[in-house]
Amino acid sequence: MASSDLDSWHGIPRQEIPWFPTVDAQACIGCELCYVTCGRGVYELKERKAFAAQPYACMVGCSTCARVCPTEAIRFPDGDVVRRVEREHKILQIVREEAKAKRTRQEAQRARASAEEALGRLTCRTRLEIAGAFGSKHFLRQLQDLIADFPVDLVNLELRVPTVRGLAERVPAFMRFEVVSTGQADIHAFLPLLRDLARRNGFVLVHEVGL
Ligand code: SF4
Ligand code: SF4
Repeated sequence: MASSDLDSWHGIPRQEIPWFPTVDAQACIGCELCYVTCGRGVYELKERKAFAAQPYACMVGCSTCARVCPTEAIRFPDGDVVRRVEREHKILQIVREEAKAKRTRQEAQRARASAEEALGRLTCRTRLEIAGAFGSKHFLRQLQDLIADFPVDLVNLELRVPTVRGLAERVPAFMRFEVVSTGQADIHAFLPLLRDLARRNGFVLVHEVGL
C-alpha cells in the first residue's frame, strides 16, 4: 500500500485521528492472529506479545483484529471518535466527490473489460492445412482473387510435396497457411468462402485452428 494512502484519511492527516489498537499484554497469548490478519502491517510481536508498531497505519473504523483475538486482548477507542472526526471535518462532502470519482473509474474499467472481451471473441488469425493435388498454379490464382475483396491476407504459406514425380500423377500434397486480418477485424465471414473454394477444387481441409 502506498504510504500516501496511509498518511491521510479522506484528506485528513492520519495522525490527527486517534483510532488505533492497544494490546493488553497480560491478556495476549502471542498467537499472532492479529499479526497475520492485519493487511496494513500494524502489528509486531516482541517476547510473544503483540503490539501496534505502526498504529496510524490502522484503517480508520476497522476493528477486525479485535474481533478475531481469542482472548479479547485488543481494544479500540469508542466509535464516537470516528464520528466526531467526520463531523468536524465535514467529511461527507469529500466522500461524495470521492464516490463520484470511484464510480467514474469503475465505469471506465467495466467498459474496458467489455471491450477486451469483445476483442477476445474476434478471430483475427487462423491456420489452415489442406490436402490435395496442387499440380497447377490455378488454386493460388483463385486465392488471390478471393482475398482481393476482403481485408485479409494469407501468410506463411508452405507447400509440402511428398514427391515431385508424384505431382504429375496427382499424388496428394499439403498446403499450410494462415489467414490474417489486415485491420484487426473478424475473419469469420471470410473463412466459409475459403473452405468452399478448397472444396470446389477437390481439396480436403485437414486442419483448422484459430490463433
Ligand atoms: S490476536 Fe490477541 S492474543 Fe493473539 S497475538 Fe494478537 S493480541 Fe495477542
Ligand atoms: S483494525 Fe484492521 S487495520 Fe487496524 S490493526 Fe486491526 S486489522 Fe489492522
